[in-house]
Amino acid sequence: MAYDFDLFVIGAGSGGVRAARFAAGFGAKVAVAESRYLGGTCVNVGCVPKKLLVYGAHVADELEQAAGFGWTLEEGHFDWGTLIANKNREIERLNGIYRNLLVNSGVTLLQGHARLTGANEVEVDGQRYTAEHILIATGGWPQVPDIPGKELAITSNEAFYLKDLPRRVLVVGGGYIAVEFAGIFQGLGAATTLLYRGDLFLRGFDGSVRTHLKEELEKRGLDLQFNADVQRIDKLEDGSLKATLKDGRELVTDCVFYATGRRPMLDNLGLENTGVELDARGYIRVDQQYQTTAPSILAIGDVIGRVQLTPVALAEGMAVARRLFKPEQYRPVDYQNIPTAVFSQPPIGTVGLTEEQALEAGHKVQVFESRFRAMKLTLTDIQEKTLMKLVVDAETDKVLGCHMVGPDAGEIIQGLGVALKAGATKQQFDETIGVHPTAAEEFVTMRTATR
Ligand code: FAD
Ligand code: NDP
Repeated sequence: MAYDFDLFVIGAGSGGVRAARFAAGFGAKVAVAESRYLGGTCVNVGCVPKKLLVYGAHVADELEQAAGFGWTLEEGHFDWGTLIANKNREIERLNGIYRNLLVNSGVTLLQGHARLTGANEVEVDGQRYTAEHILIATGGWPQVPDIPGKELAITSNEAFYLKDLPRRVLVVGGGYIAVEFAGIFQGLGAATTLLYRGDLFLRGFDGSVRTHLKEELEKRGLDLQFNADVQRIDKLEDGSLKATLKDGRELVTDCVFYATGRRPMLDNLGLENTGVELDARGYIRVDQQYQTTAPSILAIGDVIGRVQLTPVALAEGMAVARRLFKPEQYRPVDYQNIPTAVFSQPPIGTVGLTEEQALEAGHKVQVFESRFRAMKLTLTDIQEKTLMKLVVDAETDKVLGCHMVGPDAGEIIQGLGVALKAGATKQQFDETIGVHPTAAEEFVTMRTATR
């Protein structure tokens, strides 16, 4: 049977664009449907605008440090409207770049909501298209628990377009987004509280990292409230919001920001017209090669709920394009040792096993840990400490994990990701000459095991 397209991609986000462009480059006839914004979550309401706001918040640190280096500055004034307008301009520029990337690689771009009408058929704005392969790359969407007053809360989607910076913000959640946005709001001047339901935020990260970040955020005056959760939200007469907690306490604020995870975006996708099944958590079930339970339909990225990071969606998109249209270049995605950063203030960089995971996996673990005040702060009154930690297998000497909390942690951890992928040993770390004077050199100079 002749199809309209070899590959029909639903969603022009990180994974979808990568798969579409490369498939077209390999000679396939490709269409992409996008209902909302080119570049998807990462470009529009994720990594990129988030990082721009993080930079904005970080300026406050630089201003605070300036006096120690002899600079006298007049009292600074921050204007949220300018930051958001400049951010929006940059996002529009990126939208244009994504459009060019697709069009110039020969992909047919369809703007509109795509709905599956069969295992080889998609409908966009009343028009039906057939395809030999269909790739679902529809990403995710913020999930807010069903509590009274949830409509009064915002999520990251809305935060990027707030008209004004709220004077007081209550952040609910203890994952990446909660911690990053708490740093943004607080850095830009809002009195910020972070409320998390468990004992300590960032579940799944290394224990030393979690504790260290908690201490540093408290030093910065962030109000951290653990073992607490919101029961209901009400609007008060003066327009402010009252969050009533499950323990009966009441917090009055101007903005309740929810970051309690994301659900797969399956709205009106028409999965019922196909044989595509969901897994127990509600994400699209795929095999090792991203094939769903309907053989002609594949899925990648946040919608499969494996690792919700842009570089992972990109790698999955590439793997799909190669497997279908350039099989001689196909390589499966390696989910081991994925480096990642949390752009909190200060940021976290991490790759490999946490100490807890290494112990659980049965390794005999040696830990090297260092806490120090960064050189840049020595001329200031700021007492922030950097944490660096190596988790090593005592029997094989292999470095299992590298963890950091401190300035530029994301930049530093990328290179260590290469070292771990290459299977580096602690001895090889020790034999690597440091770059002096940097914070990063500490990773190759930690000689004595802490435990
Ligand atoms: P997406 O990028 O979400 O793309 C899906 C696209 O599909 C969207 O454009 C959507 O409009 C479209 N779509 C959905 N349904 C349909 C339909 N039926 N028809 C047509 N189009 C449809 N990751 C990092 O690695 N680093 C970070 O710093 C980082 N920061 C983040 C900050 C925030 C606030 C958030 C929310 C996420 C962040 N992420 C970060 C995660 C990252 O954005 C995602 O992992 C990544 O975007 C997933 O890519 P994707 O291709 O699966 O989906
Ligand atoms: P996460 O899954 O990282 O965190 C969700 C948080 O919300 C957890 O602390 C969780 O608690 C808590 N939570 C979940 N359900 C409830 C509930 N019903 N009531 C109260 N608290 C709840 O999700 P995020 O929304 O922060 O981010 C989504 C994903 O996007 C991340 O996992 C990450 O993959 C990606 N991302 C990556 C970034 C980066 O690379 N820098 C930045 C931002 C996002 P508990 O731990 O107890 O379950």
